[in-house]
Amino acid sequence: MPIDNVPLRPAWVEVNLNAIEQNTRRLGEIARPAEVMAMVKANGYGHGAVEASRAALRGGATWLGVYSVGEGIELRRAGIDAPILVVGPTPPRWACVAVEHRLTLTVFSMETVAAIADAARVCNRRAQVHIKIDTGMTRLGVMPEEAVNFARAVSDLVELEGAFTHFSMADTPDAYGEEGWGRAYTRQQLARFGETLDALDQAGIVLRYRHVANSPATLNLPEARFNLVRSGILIYGLDPSPEVPRPSGFVPALAFKTEVALVKSVPAGKYVGYGATFRTTRPTRLAVLMVGYADGFRRAPRHYGEVLVRGQRAPIAGRVCMDQTMVDVTDIEGVQPGDEVVLIGRQGPEEICAEEVAEKLGANNYETITTISARVERRYVSEG
Ligand SMILES: *Cc1c(COP(=O)(O)O)cnc(C)c1O
Repeated sequence: MPIDNVPLRPAWVEVNLNAIEQNTRRLGEIARPAEVMAMVKANGYGHGAVEASRAALRGGATWLGVYSVGEGIELRRAGIDAPILVVGPTPPRWACVAVEHRLTLTVFSMETVAAIADAARVCNRRAQVHIKIDTGMTRLGVMPEEAVNFARAVSDLVELEGAFTHFSMADTPDAYGEEGWGRAYTRQQLARFGETLDALDQAGIVLRYRHVANSPATLNLPEARFNLVRSGILIYGLDPSPEVPRPSGFVPALAFKTEVALVKSVPAGKYVGYGATFRTTRPTRLAVLMVGYADGFRRAPRHYGEVLVRGQRAPIAGRVCMDQTMVDVTDIEGVQPGDEVVLIGRQGPEEICAEEVAEKLGANNYETITTISARVERRYVSEG
């Protein structure tokens, strides 16, 4: 991406691939004997899908999970050979290219299954699918009572390799201000899934994989692990939620950084930035940073609040602009153009973690990291 060593953008994401590898290994120890599917959708939660996939596979993941056929093809083109499950819906018109790229598809409609079967015949390949059961998320999947008939029809046309469902409350065991409400909901989903699996067994349908646990359920609900867990956020070393924090041994893999372009001294009473929303109350030193909302450094409804310069916290002054941001560095000694600025990550003794930024933005950590823009260069390091 860089041209003659000049980065296209002066803001970047640093990804520690060793952290992803170690986190995956740690998760594998927790989930054992279940296998680990590393979820690498949304560009590997913003870390870079190909590199994150390779690191997770080194750490012992045996499966990769993506949302769309296109994301799966990106991994195949990079030479990744591991089984890949597309967890999202596949329109019939994409079935052929999916089969050509040996992607395992999630199915819940016969139109797609028929298209997959046709594609498999034309390409002379085996096509494997997992059926999705809707046990309470009310998003994708067949209803539990339809599962046996659907699975029979699927098995007549293609190779039915697995069945799965997805939890909607595993990260919020005490939702609705009521202790255990979310936990009870999750247990009910698990019970529905278990009954559906029993019915499939009785109908003589053989499933090589049964899976339901996301990161929080992998930690909290051992019965949900079956023989495969699907984990994203823990692979990247972050908390599944404030209620379900990561255990020790998981290390954040991502840092978001930029640099100081300019430092200027202004008197008291100066308005700063668009909308004149900030006015200095003392002689002030401002640093102009080379990052803005077009990088995913959010402007509204709330911004990051603070960044790290020279190991100290500097508050954002005024509005975040498209490509630039002003911060108040009056209380920080010696700030100069070219100084590294940390938006998410560690600097010296200080750290701004994705969870802290999420709280400031009114988002969660998943949204915080996945909305760092594609234009922000990903730099790969291997530390620790
Ligand atoms: C993203 C995703 C997961 C992983 O969720 P985490 O909370 O990041 O572990 C699991 N299953 C499905 C179907 C997903 O889409």
